[in-house]
Amino acid sequence: MDYSSTYIYFDHSATTPVLPEVAQKIAQCLNNIYGNPSAGHRLGKQAQEQVESARKQVASALGANPSEIIFTSGGTESNNLAIFGIAEAYRQKGNHIISTSIEHPSVNIPLKMLERKGYRITLLPVDSQGLVDPRLVKDSITKETILVTIMHANNVFGTIQPIRHIGSILRQEGIIFHTDAVQSFCNIDTDASALNVDLLSVSGHKIYGPKGVGALYIKKGTKIMPQIFGGGQQRNLRSGTENVPGIVGLAEAARIGHHNLVDKIIRLTVLREYLIDGLLRTVKDIKLCGHPAKRLPGNCNFTLKNISGQAIVAELDQAGIAVSGSSACASSSAKPSATLMSLGLSCEEAVGSIRITLGFENTLEQIDYFLKVFPPIVNKLRSSSFS
Ligand code: PLP
Repeated sequence: MDYSSTYIYFDHSATTPVLPEVAQKIAQCLNNIYGNPSAGHRLGKQAQEQVESARKQVASALGANPSEIIFTSGGTESNNLAIFGIAEAYRQKGNHIISTSIEHPSVNIPLKMLERKGYRITLLPVDSQGLVDPRLVKDSITKETILVTIMHANNVFGTIQPIRHIGSILRQEGIIFHTDAVQSFCNIDTDASALNVDLLSVSGHKIYGPKGVGALYIKKGTKIMPQIFGGGQQRNLRSGTENVPGIVGLAEAARIGHHNLVDKIIRLTVLREYLIDGLLRTVKDIKLCGHPAKRLPGNCNFTLKNISGQAIVAELDQAGIAVSGSSACASSSAKPSATLMSLGLSCEEAVGSIRITLGFENTLEQIDYFLKVFPPIVNKLRSSSFS
């Protein structure tokens, strides 16, 4: 990572840079390990050893058993496998699935597809801070309910759901519980057994690892139907020759991320609170979205009146800062974030939203620079929108 770069990266929920240690492991693997993990000779065994040792590392970061980890091509595939795989395996038992209105498209689009195939989907609302009420989950259960899928932490406004509590309710009811932990893994504790989940999705590129690789935790004994068919790799659950360098990179990122978790939480929470406090003090008509405390350590999401999130992103980019913004309200192709509107925001409020997501390499000086350039940008955009 080039820490000396003058460009400031505040978009860690979109993706993270690859750690040098991770890049080194990947390069070593690319240069030296080229056997097919399924091959019977020594080069195959060597590759298989790398995959199995990576499986142990990812399992250890999730408090799981290595046999409970399946490598995938990322968070999207993990979520698809969990949802379609459980829906298919438990179809005889029932056809009802419970989720929320704030899930990532890699969860809510598979759910829409299942709805078209005759499954019944209940999408629970969240409160104004983005929290799902565990009582609503309990009240929505019917005899037909086969799966509940609720994300651990929201990718837009960072609210952390009471997954452990919901999980304990679902354990008593004997219902399978999946959580999309793509944003929470290596940012808060994601011990799978402590969370009382049966399936949990993670992705490499959100944890300073490579893109195009992820994993799905599947608790021992959970019935699931594979969704990719072929050579029968990974105990028939996910066919396809393993992405050995990607898997090795994911495992190294998970190992380091898990090892540094407590330090990272403390550091990012301090930076986040400093930034939130600074913005709320210096910018007029700005509101923090999501829960004030139960939020990802590095997530700050604001809505600003009379301004477009996209315009702020462009201006900040000119000032050398990367953040993420919401889409336009009335344009035919882009819609305001449905996730933000689930918090009860109006279309105008959702459109004036920016997301600043911090990483461990960010500094107080970078935040000070942001706090210096941001208020004049807001003033400029607001005055131009009225001229
Ligand atoms: N789930 C959440 C909450 C995400 O934020 C993302 C990526 O932005 C994904 C799933 C998809 O992960 P991937 O990009 O690895 O497919």
